[in-house]
Amino acid sequence: MATPSKAQLLTDVQALLKKRYKVAPAVEKLTILEAVVYGICHEDSTREQANQALAKFKDGFFDWNEVRVSSLEEIQGVLATMTDVEGRAFRIRRFLRQLFEKTYGFNLEPLTKKPQKESVKALEEYDAMASDFVLATVTRLALQGHAIPVDASTLRALTRLGVVEEATDIPALRSSLERAVPKNRGLEFSELLEELAHDTCVEGEPDCPRCELRKLCPTAEAKKTESASAKSTKAPKGKAGKAKSAD
Ligand code: SF4
Repeated sequence: MATPSKAQLLTDVQALLKKRYKVAPAVEKLTILEAVVYGICHEDSTREQANQALAKFKDGFFDWNEVRVSSLEEIQGVLATMTDVEGRAFRIRRFLRQLFEKTYGFNLEPLTKKPQKESVKALEEYDAMASDFVLATVTRLALQGHAIPVDASTLRALTRLGVVEEATDIPALRSSLERAVPKNRGLEFSELLEELAHDTCVEGEPDCPRCELRKLCPTAEAKKTESASAKSTKAPKGKAGKAKSAD
């Protein structure tokens, strides 16, 4: 995927999306624990929803131990605006429980001093990291690494844009994106892609006529051709119909 044409396509995508969306200021550096919770909240949700949820955890609970011992219903209350609140609440509490069982505390910051590969390996022991999106979020926001998190929403947009080859798994796709988009553009690229996935390239029918990428997107092109051919097959029938009634 890191062929010049794919890299160029991604550069063009970024330049076009920049015309339409304003990228919000970057999230301040998070601790590893906060980045895990943020990642779980942010997967297939907007940045705003994830920011609000993290703020509610930090302001509405005494500490992370209180979240750990809370009922799932209480945690779900923080996530109310998102999809899959049950699954997210379970994953957050499971992570806090695992962390406490392993460390008797809630501090993973010593990992930020280690080489990134070593930190990632240690983090992979937690079930929350089964999601590559969460792992990439932690890598970017807490370990300050180059990572472009991909969730189902951004995968959908990348597939429609023809960036993803069939049967590419998310970790493989992510590393190919990270090779094609340099670190200094990575954050902006991710955020613009998220905007696209939650604005026009939504689940179900994408809103291609309103999309900035419609001229380079194969899906938009295919839809246009399909609708033109549907119109042209209807037209002769209409004429024939008129001709018949005129007879
Ligand atoms: S043109 Fe349509 S399918 Fe292509 S990225 Fe935009 S919304 Fe998605």
